[in-house]
Amino acid sequence: MFSQADDLREGMMIDQVFTCSRVRARLRESTFGGVLDEYVRQLQARGYVRGTIGKCLGAVEHFGSWLRDQGLTPAAVSRDLIHSFLHGHLPRCRCARMSAYRRAVNASSGSGA
Ligand SMILES: [Zn+2]
Repeated sequence: MFSQADDLREGMMIDQVFTCSRVRARLRESTFGGVLDEYVRQLQARGYVRGTIGKCLGAVEHFGSWLRDQGLTPAAVSRDLIHSFLHGHLPRCRCARMSAYRRAVNASSGSGA
């Protein structure tokens, strides 16, 4: 018998969000790959549907990729750095891998619950 808290801990993981094994592998190897399953569980517990969770994971992967391209690690993340990503990088983003990622997300993630 599981409590509701157990159900949340046993909730959705990356594997349930993406059907494409290449996307799952890339996410697990990404900068924030070690915490993405917990991130998915927290989003699910807050009521987000699979398609939205997939888009959130894409955003996290993009941020991690940009961070790595800057020669930085997650330890360097600050409010100013996030501001630079959101307002400096995103409006001018030409990340080729993110274009490929967006195509993969559209092909492999669900659009609803
Ligand atoms: Zn980018």
